[in-house]
Amino acid sequence: MAVASRTPLIAGNWKMNLDHLQSIAFVQKLAWTLKDANHDFAGAEVAVFPPFTDLRSVQTLISADKLELVFGAQDVSQYDSGAYTGEISGAFLKALDASYVIIGHSERRTMHAETDEIVAAKSAAAIKHGLVPVICVGETADDLETHGPSAVPVAQLKAALAGIGAGTSAAPTDIVVAYEPVWAIGSGQAATPEQAEQVCAALRGVLAEVLGQDTADATRILYGGSVKSGNIAGFMRQPNVDGALVGGASLDVAEFAAISRFQKHVGV
Ligand code: PEP
Repeated sequence: MAVASRTPLIAGNWKMNLDHLQSIAFVQKLAWTLKDANHDFAGAEVAVFPPFTDLRSVQTLISADKLELVFGAQDVSQYDSGAYTGEISGAFLKALDASYVIIGHSERRTMHAETDEIVAAKSAAAIKHGLVPVICVGETADDLETHGPSAVPVAQLKAALAGIGAGTSAAPTDIVVAYEPVWAIGSGQAATPEQAEQVCAALRGVLAEVLGQDTADATRILYGGSVKSGNIAGFMRQPNVDGALVGGASLDVAEFAAISRFQKHVGV
């Protein structure tokens, strides 16, 4: 198990699913399901990452009903404001009370040509606006074959952290790293817990090198890629895995609630 000072985070990336009306129904049902199950939110934080158009509805619901769920966005602009058609500023997300923002998801890296430099700039922008960046890294199947498991994620994390090192004006108070092997995303073929642990441990080494040991010890590293209620326990037993970034399974309330309640089956 990961160290107790790192509160596990179960994060649901909805991608381009659920409109704002569906998001309200979903979040209400998720909150009720977790409440009925006496979920310990202090023991495992539960976050949803809806599309931009849902964020206001989700924020209003969470705030009005005093739900213990938190939320974030799936992307952020590297710029503060200006002539950037279609972009969303971190300032706008912060004004909406978003806690987190996913940065560098492999779908954005491949489909929207997001480079390591853009990921670094977006990570710095998130921190500047008081958002916690969930920095995604991970290797493709080809990378795995050519370079082994850790090389690409380690290089991606080093690049993402450029410019936000300890002692800089953009020193992070909190960041989250998500290790998501691209071959495991949406494929139904998750990494083994041991594979995830090996890479997450290497990523923690990068955090120690760049941001210092204290920050490395305090930073949550998630595993993502075909996480389900049936395999979450294996990941959460690993010392360097502090939670999960969940795609497909986060769209099913019962399944996502069961993943969030991993503590009920980790010890079994
Ligand atoms: C993701 O896209 O971040 C993800 C982990 O997807 P899935 O859980 O569906 O593999």
